[in-house]
Amino acid sequence: MQTKSILNLDLKELEKALSGWTQRPFHAKQIYSWIYQKGIRDFEKMSDLSADLRKKLAENFSILDLEVIKRLESSDGTKKLLFKLRDANTIEAANIPTEKRITACVSTQAGCKFACGFCASGALGFKRNLEAGEIIQQILILREEAGDRINNLVLMGIGEPLDNYDNVLKAIRIVNSPWSLNIGARKITISSAGFIPGIKRLVDEKLQIELSISLHAPDDKTRSILMPINKKYPLKDLIAAVRGYIKKTNRQVTFEYILIEGVNSDIIHAQALSKLLKGLICKVNLIPCNPIPELGFIPPGKLAILLFKNELIKSGINCTLRMPRGRDIQAACGQLRLEQNLSEFNA
Ligand code: SF4
Repeated sequence: MQTKSILNLDLKELEKALSGWTQRPFHAKQIYSWIYQKGIRDFEKMSDLSADLRKKLAENFSILDLEVIKRLESSDGTKKLLFKLRDANTIEAANIPTEKRITACVSTQAGCKFACGFCASGALGFKRNLEAGEIIQQILILREEAGDRINNLVLMGIGEPLDNYDNVLKAIRIVNSPWSLNIGARKITISSAGFIPGIKRLVDEKLQIELSISLHAPDDKTRSILMPINKKYPLKDLIAAVRGYIKKTNRQVTFEYILIEGVNSDIIHAQALSKLLKGLICKVNLIPCNPIPELGFIPPGKLAILLFKNELIKSGINCTLRMPRGRDIQAACGQLRLEQNLSEFNA
């Protein structure tokens, strides 16, 4: 029988499991120190535990059950991993380095329900939610790949994090804990396509994490074409939910905006965006799109990008320009997984 990863359990849950085996609860901290701090992946090597407990752990749990099946490295240093899950579904994760930082980007679902026009993840449909332990495993493996150094964590890979709310929040609370990886909450970003029920729940979490919304258009017509989720959660309701989030948490929200030539990158779009975001404590992150020839998506020219950015700044909107990373290794969300599935299909 396949066992589930022990990483699904928080400290209290592991203490409870140990108590159920008439073992002392304090062993939970020892076990997690081996896994999270010392990088041990085999219960047998946990030398301060009794042989009996090591055996019991191995019978009941795995540690890592994700298998890396592909590893790609871009000329810009972005490293992308394709993982196979226990049930043979695949997911992707990436390490994105800048001069001073390494950002780990992880998936939260196998597949995605929301089928955004610029994203390969939706193309294969939704398979299932990831367990908290599967999200944490990606982080552990990415940390190892980065020489045990991860500065930021973004939940921006395959899936809509807020559509897998409980497991995502559990994983965040675990990696934020001192007995685990101790990643600061402010270094953790949830990136949402605008799943309003999740945004509303997040308001009450009392966590200092960052929220980023993939906006990509300033009007419902354009956004519904790019992001079908907009038909269910239109801009008026989304902005109202974000306004409520900012009011309650007093935290700045980031809006991601992919610039696509002839679709959403004209000056009228910049003006409409300024109007939409007026009065919000927010930042806009402009990202020229990765070219997707099948969809006819190309990034606008440099001048158009600068004019767009200046229009936002002129309206008092805090704005940054980010170049897409890992273009040469299909680093856009879901591309590697899609390619793997197509190659299996064609084999
Ligand atoms: S961008 Fe995010 S929400 Fe949209 S299809 Fe891709 S994974 Fe899903």
